[in-house]
Amino acid sequence: MTDTATRHTRLLIIGSGPAGYTAGVYASRAMLEPILVQGIQPGGQLTITTDVENWPGDATVMGPDLMVRMEAHAKEMGCEVISDHIMSLDLSKRPFTAAGDSGTTYTADAVILATGAQAKWLGLPSEEHFKGFGVSACATCDGFFYRGQEIVVVGGGNTAVEEALFLTNFASKVTLIHRRDSLRAEKIMQDRLFKNPKVEVLWNHAIDEVIGGDSPRGVEGVRARHVETGEITEIPCKGFFVAIGHAPATELVKDQLELHNGGYVKVEPGTTRTSIPGVFAAGDLTDHIYRQAVTSAGMGCMAALDAEKWLAEQEGEEVAEAGVYAAPKGDPTATPADAAE
Ligand SMILES: Cc1cc2nc3c(=O)[nH]c(=O)nc-3n(C[C@H](O)[C@H](O)[C@H](O)COP(=O)(O)OP(=O)(O)OC[C@H]3O[C@@H](n4cnc5c(N)ncnc54)[C@H](O)[C@@H]3O)c2cc1C
Repeated sequence: MTDTATRHTRLLIIGSGPAGYTAGVYASRAMLEPILVQGIQPGGQLTITTDVENWPGDATVMGPDLMVRMEAHAKEMGCEVISDHIMSLDLSKRPFTAAGDSGTTYTADAVILATGAQAKWLGLPSEEHFKGFGVSACATCDGFFYRGQEIVVVGGGNTAVEEALFLTNFASKVTLIHRRDSLRAEKIMQDRLFKNPKVEVLWNHAIDEVIGGDSPRGVEGVRARHVETGEITEIPCKGFFVAIGHAPATELVKDQLELHNGGYVKVEPGTTRTSIPGVFAAGDLTDHIYRQAVTSAGMGCMAALDAEKWLAEQEGEEVAEAGVYAAPKGDPTATPADAAE
């Protein structure tokens, strides 16, 4: 059934990853009565992984379990969590307007964008089959699982070189596979890579298939094809890292907000304020550097606090413009003159 209602909220949070749910917790505790719209991936990126070993307070936690707990926490604090997907967002005038796939229109005095990012994948069926079972797009998250083992990284930019170098901290050997005969990464990064005795580069090769077994499910190697001769080479590995870039989920705002570094939402340094007052951004959507659950959660907290402050300022101005004086809380004897000080 299509819901065609209009809902107004002081604060609309779009996205249900660590950034969105943390913003929901803080905004609820600030009595903003936020509405959080989950999107088509309730819980965000951590729902497609298994063990998470770097969430403070949990030596190991399953990604999907952690996100169920975050949702419950946000709800417990009073956040209204709605299963819907925002199809369009109008930030040209206030209140801001968001159209939900359900038919609901959401109007909001302030908005927190927490729509995350997605790693770019090669698109191979075998890659999909082994995701979370040896195939990863995050060396910081998963490198530790491959201590003393062989790893293959695919890509040719800064991300690929950084990931390959980082993985030498754990792996016995890292093979970087690139489909061209030179890297796009910065020269200094390339020098570091070539000097590292654990690294081997396989030039002019593309990945044809990730190979492995099903009992238990795990990667055993990759099959790479020479882009000119078609010759096939099999490289054994336990971990296969795809490092061909990330795509921030900026579809809703890319023509409305300032972006930077390949499409990430730009915020004022040290804040979550975007180029439009009243619109805040948190998590992977704005972060091309760290892209972690804990940093996203931290930014979700910042966004809720920034939104709370901004809303209080707006509401204060509206009261002043209307010539209405509201006595400060807890001070019944205060006069308008006190307020003007
Ligand atoms: C396989 C994998 C393993 C990882 N492992 C770790 C790890 O071990 N440790 C770690 O710290 N990090 C890990 N990460 C990274 C971590 O998941 C991200 O940094 C984090 O999830 C980002 O949080 P976020 O809240 O910014 O966005 P996301 O988690 O990306 O969530 C985005 C949310 O926005 C919603 N959304 C998008 N568009 C719309 C829309 N139009 N309307 C409404 N909602 C929308 C989605 O439904 C989703 O809920 C991993 C990532 C992956 C892919």
